Amino acid sequence: MTDDTTGTSRLLLVVADGVRPDVLAEELAQGNLPAMARLREKGGLYTVSTSFPSVTGPAYAPFVMGRHPAAVGMPGLRWFDRARSLRWSYAQARSYSGIDIWHVDGDLDPAIPTLYDLVTPSLAGLMMIARGATHGRVGRGIGWSLRAGWAHFRGDAGAWRRVEQAAVHEFFRRFRRTRPLLSALGILGPDKLSHAFGGESPIVRRAIRDVDAAIAQAQAIAAEDGWSEGLRVWVVGDHGHAPVDQHDDLHAWLSERGHRVLAHPQLGRRDADVALMVGGNAMGHLYLDPAQTTRSWWPSLRMRWQRVLDALLERPSTGLLAVAMDSHTVRVFTGRDGVADIIRTHEGREARWSYRPLEGDPLHLGGSLPHLDAHDAWLAGSSTPYADALVQLSTLVPSPRAGDIVLSAAAGWDLRARFEPTPHVSTHGALLNNQMLVPLLIDGPVTRIPQRTTDVVPSVLDLLGVPTDLLFDGRSFLR
Ligand SMILES: [Zn+2]
Repeated sequence: MTDDTTGTSRLLLVVADGVRPDVLAEELAQGNLPAMARLREKGGLYTVSTSFPSVTGPAYAPFVMGRHPAAVGMPGLRWFDRARSLRWSYAQARSYSGIDIWHVDGDLDPAIPTLYDLVTPSLAGLMMIARGATHGRVGRGIGWSLRAGWAHFRGDAGAWRRVEQAAVHEFFRRFRRTRPLLSALGILGPDKLSHAFGGESPIVRRAIRDVDAAIAQAQAIAAEDGWSEGLRVWVVGDHGHAPVDQHDDLHAWLSERGHRVLAHPQLGRRDADVALMVGGNAMGHLYLDPAQTTRSWWPSLRMRWQRVLDALLERPSTGLLAVAMDSHTVRVFTGRDGVADIIRTHEGREARWSYRPLEGDPLHLGGSLPHLDAHDAWLAGSSTPYADALVQLSTLVPSPRAGDIVLSAAAGWDLRARFEPTPHVSTHGALLNNQMLVPLLIDGPVTRIPQRTTDVVPSVLDLLGVPTDLLFDGRSFLR
């Protein structure tokens, strides 16, 4: 092997899927994660927000594409294709927790590049979004195979881990051979185990050591082959985890009210008047009159659907509801805390967000807020129950593929009791802090405090010296 003395920087981005920032910090403090502790010494560990919905799949878009998921065509883990924009889908419905995982890359806006396109050679391992990776997309679909086999794996965490470790082994075989300038590796065990045993459980804490071991392995390979000098490693989470002990069945509730509901797995429904797409499972999209191929804004739906919205608001499982009044105004409703509008003006870097309570203060922002930029909008939400609510709701709710009513579950609840056979004690998907906040570990100094996972992509490009005039939802923390 020749020594790589050109000073080329290479980045390995490790996704600690479903790892909570507080649990990661505790494990670091306990000395259980030596490789990550060394990275932190050189840089820092930050708590940033993911994009809503806080669920694997959509929540990978920010750190692979630098955009919020709704902006690249992925509004949820499950969603309904009202516009019939997909070349193929059964009943126009997508569920990336099933076989549709194969469609993830193809469903994304083809005009928006991924990090793997922008920095080559590139390699992806166990990544929900892998489009453009030049040297392999190791373990594509493995999440689906594992999930399908969950009944078998339940109670046998070792079997799960062996499958994941086999994919990690293959990833590192290619990593050694290719020396990718950009590589990304997902470690999914902590998420799967969190659902079954809780995000703070001892078994999850042990699984986080697999993230540490992968980093150590990458560093060992680079050291053996003489290119450790340029190897940088960052770690990011995709969503949090929150205890759940109440499981609502929205599908049954809507049916009891006389609605004809199209929802997974019962996609054979004819003449549906509501398509219900719960994914997370602590969030859901309701598409009203799904036979209509263009979406309508709430003022034209209100006459017929306000009663459903009011009834939803009275349910204990509802945290907040959001509807689009037009392309730039989102109305947020809560049962107890009131109603407010979020107004977005301007586009791109000039975008501004205003918050106008109509009654109460549903987002706990302390009253009306005018014209905040992306930085200040994030700060305004940082001490409220909902992380980054202004930016997240204004991006998701009016987006072309979103439902007409977007629901974020109340704490302690998720929304898909009947067809989720796997017993689980922890959930995510909602806009609540403990589901939205994730760790970001950077192995070098930053010029400003990272806020969102969308900040990762522009920062990676700065780190690796790749010039671009692309527009991102995030901002570099290295500039
Ligand atoms: Zn999960």
